[in-house]
Amino acid sequence: GFIAEDDPEESQVTRAPVIAVMGHVDHGKTSLLDALRATDVAAGEAGGITQHIGAYQVQLKGGEKITFLDTPGHAAFSAMRSRGAEATDIVILVVAADDSVKPQTIEAIHHAKAAGTPIIVAVNKCDKPDANPQKVLTDLLQHEIVVEAMSGDVQSVNVSAKKREGLDELTEAINLQAELLDLKANPDRAAEGVVIESQVDKGRGPVATVLVRRGTLKRGDIVVAGSQWGRVRALVNERGQQLESAAPSVPAEILGLAGAPEPGEVFAVVENEARAREIADYRQRKERQAAGSVSGGGASLEQMMARLKQDQTQEMPLLVKADVQGSAEAIKQSLEKLGNDEVRARVVHAAPGGVNESDVLLAKSSGAPVFAFNVRANKQARELAEREGVEIRYYSVIYDVLDDVKNTMEGMLAPEKRENFIGYAEILEVFNITKVGKVAGCRVTEGVVKRGCGVRLLRNDTVLHEGHLKTLKRFKDEVPEVRAGTECGMAFENYDDLQKGDQIECFEVVEIARKLD
Ligand code: GDP
Repeated sequence: GFIAEDDPEESQVTRAPVIAVMGHVDHGKTSLLDALRATDVAAGEAGGITQHIGAYQVQLKGGEKITFLDTPGHAAFSAMRSRGAEATDIVILVVAADDSVKPQTIEAIHHAKAAGTPIIVAVNKCDKPDANPQKVLTDLLQHEIVVEAMSGDVQSVNVSAKKREGLDELTEAINLQAELLDLKANPDRAAEGVVIESQVDKGRGPVATVLVRRGTLKRGDIVVAGSQWGRVRALVNERGQQLESAAPSVPAEILGLAGAPEPGEVFAVVENEARAREIADYRQRKERQAAGSVSGGGASLEQMMARLKQDQTQEMPLLVKADVQGSAEAIKQSLEKLGNDEVRARVVHAAPGGVNESDVLLAKSSGAPVFAFNVRANKQARELAEREGVEIRYYSVIYDVLDDVKNTMEGMLAPEKRENFIGYAEILEVFNITKVGKVAGCRVTEGVVKRGCGVRLLRNDTVLHEGHLKTLKRFKDEVPEVRAGTECGMAFENYDDLQKGDQIECFEVVEIARKLD
């Protein structure tokens, strides 16, 4: 999802949990959402909910806020998931105490488990004479939902949406789960989030309800949402109030888009109209293409060549990110000199800085692979690229960039040596140790770090150093490798400009020889 790991720790502020209510038909999802909505203490001052916008926020007596997705059925949840937008932090699984586990209950469990979203069980209709909450809990065991009363770790609360009983316990359970998840986001950045609902309104034009996941969305911002873009003319909440801005976890309707984006599509604020139009145009063109052909799809160098041959396009789109403006420009110019009568390289975007989500979206929509020169993609961008089939190639020598493109154009063999990133670690603290020098206390965040492999030091997604490890320690012992989730000590050979927050990338060079096409 949108876990803002590339935002600095100190910028992260606690945000409200986003809750989806799921369960079998008639088990009381709508009734429970209505009942929870009525617990809002802010409703008194500001007036209650006046319109359905697909999500709403309630404020509890203690001041905590909870955002509920108010979209019917599991369809919205699946749509968001299939587009990779993990908008939901916690699933409330509603099970009627007089009916127990039913097919859609099981489906909801599978959705939540597949998304890795924690579940809270709300056993509803406990007011009914034939209610049997105990049977619900036992039945859930078969689906690997083990509630706390049965020595598991899933919270379960008995409620009655009708009698409005057990709601405090339920919101307490949500707060507890939210605390465990330590949900945070940086509010001081360009907003990103997900589209929950959209429609074209007679009077107001296209209206999209969005949920901000990080950053703050402001009136006047230029946003791209799916293949639509526009300047945010107005932000409206579920009470029909106009907002100046929407912070993380705040849902709001936005007015001003040129068309209605699909639910589940991501939105992002971009720097200017030209950029917005560029991204939206590409996406629209891609949608039309996808509608007319079965091919569609990814943006790897090979796929792109195959497509070029198919539609006899004369241009080979490429996107370049580099450590400094100078190298971005140099690569762009050299690339655009490459080519022959059949195909020329066209650089759709060349800029300094790490590869971010906006780059990946642009690459995807223009069918361009990303060439990253001495820079890296952040985690969100890497995940997005993987989902969208966008290839990111990493280089540290300009000549290799040009060579790769030239060879691909000529249908030659791909480079024989390729790097595999095998792991990442983050520096938590730097220690100065006499006679040894600087040692970084790290946590391996992904994959595995091996003593003998190549390592790079990254700061702000930019490569500062490439070399080898001098030590790799667990506690006092030198170890051959350390896996994700584990803390360790590392020191570099002949390099000690280490800082808290730096990333360490671990790579292996593999030999490959494959024929293109
Ligand atoms: P959904 O299909 O899951 O959204 O279920 P609804 O909220 O529409 O509820 C289905 C039916 O169950 C309605 O007739 C509700 O009035 C009833 N219902 C919902 N919650 C309760 C409850 O806590 N107790 C009782 N007795 N009936 C309930």
